[in-house]
Amino acid sequence: MKVYHDIEKLFESWKKRKLTLFGKCSIINTLAVPKLIYLSTILELPEENYIKNINRLIFKFLWNNHDRIKRNTVIGDIKDGGIGLIDIESKLKALKAAWVPRLLETKHAINDFVNSFFKELNIDIRFISITSEISIKKFDIVQKMPQFYKEIFSCFNICKTRPEFKTTESFLKQPIWSNSSFTYKGKTVCFKNWIKSGILFTKHLFNTNGELKSLDDFATVIHNKSNWLCEYTILQKVFRKYEKNFDFSKKNYIHLEIDKLIPEKQNTNFFYSILKNKKFQISCSQQKLSNEFQISSKSDWERIYFNKIKSMEDKKIAEFNYKLLNNILCNNLYLSKWNSQVNKKCKVCQNDTENIRHLIFDCKNVQKIWNAISDFVTFQVQWKHVIIGFYSSQNNTIKVYNLLFSFISYKIYKHKMYCRLENTEETEQSLFYAVKDSVLIYSNVLKYMRKTCDGIFFKKLYLKL
Ligand SMILES: [Zn+2]
Repeated sequence: MKVYHDIEKLFESWKKRKLTLFGKCSIINTLAVPKLIYLSTILELPEENYIKNINRLIFKFLWNNHDRIKRNTVIGDIKDGGIGLIDIESKLKALKAAWVPRLLETKHAINDFVNSFFKELNIDIRFISITSEISIKKFDIVQKMPQFYKEIFSCFNICKTRPEFKTTESFLKQPIWSNSSFTYKGKTVCFKNWIKSGILFTKHLFNTNGELKSLDDFATVIHNKSNWLCEYTILQKVFRKYEKNFDFSKKNYIHLEIDKLIPEKQNTNFFYSILKNKKFQISCSQQKLSNEFQISSKSDWERIYFNKIKSMEDKKIAEFNYKLLNNILCNNLYLSKWNSQVNKKCKVCQNDTENIRHLIFDCKNVQKIWNAISDFVTFQVQWKHVIIGFYSSQNNTIKVYNLLFSFISYKIYKHKMYCRLENTEETEQSLFYAVKDSVLIYSNVLKYMRKTCDGIFFKKLYLKL
């Protein structure tokens, strides 16, 4: 609980500052999450409720209140449409999983300790590392281990992709025990007497003619026969369906080198990215925009997110773009969904519904601005240029256009919100001059930041307005 309160205090102290989503994300990732991780590397996984509570704290800090974008989206990388927020559950599991490659690689006292749990079964952790059971409750083969070690193997297995056995060889190399591909009544099988007797892989269950070996075949192999009739019946039920499925004549030539499902020398980040990607979902808004503007490839989206968010040095503009792309900026239509008192129409244009496109681009009050910008760049600026920008090629002109359209939209939005908060009238003139002034200020900021070309570009625009 101490960690919980520490994190609570940390957020309390940062709450007063006006941080962007990205700023808050770094506070969470670099200051809050490490507090949790420090303990979790040596302790058992915390209870589900504990993680839930910490997450509630984190997301409340991130959004000031209720979540605005799916949690499984914000945990994605920026290039995929997230903000790179660390997913605690995946992080804790990745830390556990990363123990397994370390155990397999090193000759360490801890290895002997871990292997000692499997001595009576005549196997070692190499065999455990190729199992695929993910539920600790059903993971019979590691039953005798302390909870911490059960967790590292189960977390390691969560990171694996289910093996496909298309070839005879890949099928016959499968471990029989605690393998999620072979289940009986929804549970993986694990028969200690069979393991002790060296029956470990599917290869050991079949004859060269492709039939399951008979009870007689096993009679000489299995030393302790308690329960073996019942166990044989279960194995028949699980494996009979594979009979004659493959070319079993090669069986004797198949060497049982253990297939490494996960390459060695992998660290926490490797496991974290697998777990995070399993959870990650693209945002609903991205799907809608993909349909609207016929963006079909992942790489196009990566470029859009790079241009609109990652490469934007002004994080306020990056945040604005992120919210724009996720359709969570403030507008009457959006507010009317939550509050029936709000009219979804635009106050200036009366008949038009005020969605974000209307607010920034179509509204009567902003026409003058966009016309002036179109004159300046000598082509008709479209909504598409504003929301997703130019992404098919990359050069300095394109870059400065993307910056310009993002900047202008952001300033329009800011001025409109300012008028609403301060209850002052929003006119075409007031909006135009607010944007014009900010262009001048920004041209000086760019100059100061030694972005001379961009600075001159904004200065030219100011003189034209
Ligand atoms: Zn309007």
